[in-house]
Amino acid sequence: MPEFRTAVVTGSTSGIGLAVARALAEAGHAVMLNGLGDPTEIETVRAGLADETGAPVAFHGADMSKPYQIADLVAATEARFGQVDIIVNNAGIQTVAPIEDFPVDRYDLIMAINMSAAWHLTRLVMAGMKARGWGRIVNIASAHGLVASPYKSAYVMAKHAVIGLTKTVALEGAEAGVTCNAICPGYVLTSLVAGQIPETAAARGITEEEVIRDVLLAAQPTKRFVQAGQIGALAAFLCSPAASEMTGAALPVDGGWTAH
Ligand code: NAD
Repeated sequence: MPEFRTAVVTGSTSGIGLAVARALAEAGHAVMLNGLGDPTEIETVRAGLADETGAPVAFHGADMSKPYQIADLVAATEARFGQVDIIVNNAGIQTVAPIEDFPVDRYDLIMAINMSAAWHLTRLVMAGMKARGWGRIVNIASAHGLVASPYKSAYVMAKHAVIGLTKTVALEGAEAGVTCNAICPGYVLTSLVAGQIPETAAARGITEEEVIRDVLLAAQPTKRFVQAGQIGALAAFLCSPAASEMTGAALPVDGGWTAH
C-alpha cells in the first residue's frame, strides 16, 4: 500500500469540501476535487492547492445528482491515481420552505445530491477498499442529521439518512479495514448558508440580521460560526492511523448545538 492515499472529495470547489480537500492534501494525500462552477476559477483553485501543498490534485466535474457521472468520477480517479482509498461525501445543496410549499423538483435534487450520491459513490468504491484491506469513508452530514429545524424537511431527511448509511457501511467494512464516519457540522458561513439567509427571512417574516442572530447562531451556544478548516482537520484525523478504531460514529462539530 502507498504511504499516502488517494482521496475523492465531492463538492470541493468551495466551502467545507475545499477545506477538507486542503487538509487531506496537506496530509500528503492525492486529491480528486469535484464540484460545479466556472472552469477557469476551478482550475485556479486546483492549481493553487497543488502548489501550496505539493500534493497531486486533479479535478472531475461529475454532477453528483447523476449516477452515471458518479461512476465516471470513480473511473477517472482510478485512471489518474490508480485507486480510491478515501472518499468524502460532501456535495450538498439546501432549500428552505414550508413543506406544503416545498418545490418538488428541489426535493428530488436535494435527495439525489445530499443522500443518494453518498450511497452511489460508496457502492462503487467499497469492493476495492475491502479487497485492499484499507478504506476511509467520511460523510459530511450535519447537525441536521441529528436534530431538526422547521422548513428544512428535505435537507433534514437526507442528512438523517446519511447517518443511517454511515452506520450500515461501518458494519459492512468493519472486518475489512474500512471505516465510515459522519461529521455533523453546525453553521459554517459558506455560500450554502449565506444563500439560505434571505429564504429563511422570507419564510419566517423577519429581517436577515434577525435570521443570523435569532435563527442561525441562536442554535449554537458558542454564538460563533464553525470554521470550515475545523471540519477539514477532523476529516484528515479520521483518515489517520489514530482513527482506525473509530467507525460508525456521527461526530458533532456544532458549538454545542446538539447538546441542548
Ligand atoms: P457550498 O455551497 O460552499 O459547497 C457545496 C459544494 O457542492 C460546491 O463545491 C458545489 O459546487 C458542490 N455541488 C453542488 N451541487 C453539486 C452537484 N450536483 N454535483 C457536484 N457538486 C455539487 O456549501 P458548504 O456549506 O460547504 O456545504 C458542504 C456540505 O456541508 C454540504 O453537504 C452541506 O449540507 C454540509 N453542511 C454545511 C453546513 C454549513 O453551515 N455550511 C452545516 C452542516 C453541513
